[in-house]
Amino acid sequence: MTTTSICDIFISGGGIAGLTAAAVFGTAGFDVICVDPTPPITESDTIGADMRTTALLQPARAMLMAAGIWEPLEPFSAALETMRIVDAGRPNGRLRDMKEFRASDLSESPFGWNFPNWRLKRELVNRLQTLRNVNFRTGVGAQSLFTRTAEARIGLTDGSTTLTKLVIAADGRASPLREAAGIPVHTTRYGQKALAFVVTHPVPHENVSTEIHKTGGPFTLVPLPNYDGTPSSAVVWMDDGSASLSRYKMPVDKFEAEITARSCQLYGPLTLKSKRSIWPIISQRAERLNGVRLALLAEAAHVVPPIGAQGLNMSLSDTQELLNLAKLRPEGLGDATMLDQYHKTRSKDIRLRLAGIDILNRTSQLKSAFLRDARSFGLKTLHEIRPVRHKLMRLGLGV
Ligand SMILES: Cc1cc2nc3c(=O)[nH]c(=O)nc-3n(C[C@H](O)[C@H](O)[C@H](O)COP(=O)(O)OP(=O)(O)OC[C@H]3O[C@@H](n4cnc5c(N)ncnc54)[C@H](O)[C@@H]3O)c2cc1C
Repeated sequence: MTTTSICDIFISGGGIAGLTAAAVFGTAGFDVICVDPTPPITESDTIGADMRTTALLQPARAMLMAAGIWEPLEPFSAALETMRIVDAGRPNGRLRDMKEFRASDLSESPFGWNFPNWRLKRELVNRLQTLRNVNFRTGVGAQSLFTRTAEARIGLTDGSTTLTKLVIAADGRASPLREAAGIPVHTTRYGQKALAFVVTHPVPHENVSTEIHKTGGPFTLVPLPNYDGTPSSAVVWMDDGSASLSRYKMPVDKFEAEITARSCQLYGPLTLKSKRSIWPIISQRAERLNGVRLALLAEAAHVVPPIGAQGLNMSLSDTQELLNLAKLRPEGLGDATMLDQYHKTRSKDIRLRLAGIDILNRTSQLKSAFLRDARSFGLKTLHEIRPVRHKLMRLGLGV
C-alpha cells in the first residue's frame, strides 16, 4: 500500500538553500515537507563535510532573524567590514594596485558575515527540529512530478506520495524536478575550477575580505573566527581546470608555498588547516523560474562563479520573494498568479547578477598585458568616483 502525505509546501533538496527555505516557511506557519536523499553533514571532521564557507550579506540578516536562525549562528561568524581588491597583474604576480571598499561608507553594519557551511547546516537542522509543522526527511528523494492546476503530486524514492500546493525545487544545479518539468537551462563553461580550503596566517585579517586578481582567476581570502587562537581565513582560488587539479593533489608543503606566493604574502606564510575541495565553475540560468505549481530556487534556478558572495545570497532573495508572495495571498499559494509574479520579479535581478559576475570572471581570466592594464585602470576609476563606488557596493549587497 502506498502512503500519501499532504502539506502546503514540498521542498526537494536539503542543501543550505532548501534547509533555509524550510525554516523560513515553517516559521511563517506553513506545513512543510523537505526531503533529501543525502543527510546533511553537520561536523567539520566528517568525511564529505562541506569545508566551504558562505558569506551571508547584510540584507539576508532580517529574514534569518525572523526565521529564528540568526541568533544561534551569529557567535560562529566573522564580520566582513572591508572588501579589498588587489591587482597582482604585474609580471611574476607582483602587486600593481590595491583598492579598499569599506562598509562604514554606507552604514554602521558590516557588508556581511562569514560562516563555515557545515556549521550553517548544523544550526539549520537544529532549527527545523524545533518546528512541529516541518518534516525534514533524509534518505529519500523526489522522483516524479505530476502537476494539475489545483495541486501537485510528488512521487518519492521510497514509493510514497506527497500532495501539495507549492513545490520548491532546491535540489541543486542538476535539479531532477526542473528536469521533470522540462524547463531548459543556459549554461556557460569557463574551463576553470575553484579550490576551497581554510588557512591560518600570522597577520590578522582585521575583518578584511581580500580578492587578489591575476591571470586565471581571483584568489579570495574571507575572514573566519580565530582557529586555535590564530587568525584564520577561508580561501577560494579560481584558476584553469588543469592547474587547479594539479594543486588539489600537490603535497601540502609545496601547496602552502604556492598559496603564500599567490596571496602576495599579504598575511604572511599561509598554513593549510583543512582538506582541499574542488568545484567546477559554471554560470547557469533556468529559462523560467516556475512551472505549474513549481518554483525553482537557488542553484536549481541559477549558478554563478563564486565572486562577490552572490550565489547563496541570490537564493535567499528568491526565498524572501516567495515568502512575500505567499503571505500576501495565502489562498493563492502555488497558483499561476503567484508563480508568474515570482518569475517576473526575480528573473531581472538574476540576469543582471549573472551578467555582472560573468564580466568580472572573464576580466579576471585575462592574459594579455594590454587588457590587464585596462582592468587596472577600470578598477581605479570605479573606486575613485565616490557615487559610483557607493552604487557598486549597494549593488553587490543587493540593496
Ligand atoms: C567554492 C564556492 C564558494 C562559494 N561561496 C559562496 C559565498 O561565499 N556566498 C554565497 O552566497 N554563495 C557562495 N557559493 C555558492 C553557494 O555555495 C551555493 O549557492 C549553495 O551552496 C547552493 O546551495 P543549493 O542548496 O542550491 O544546492 P546544493 O548545495 O547542491 O543542494 C542541493 C541538494 O539537493 C539534493 N538533491 C539532489 N537530488 C535530489 C532529489 N531527487 N530529491 C531531493 N533532494 C535532492 C542534494 O542531495 C543536495 O543536498 C559558493 C560556491 C562555491 C562553488
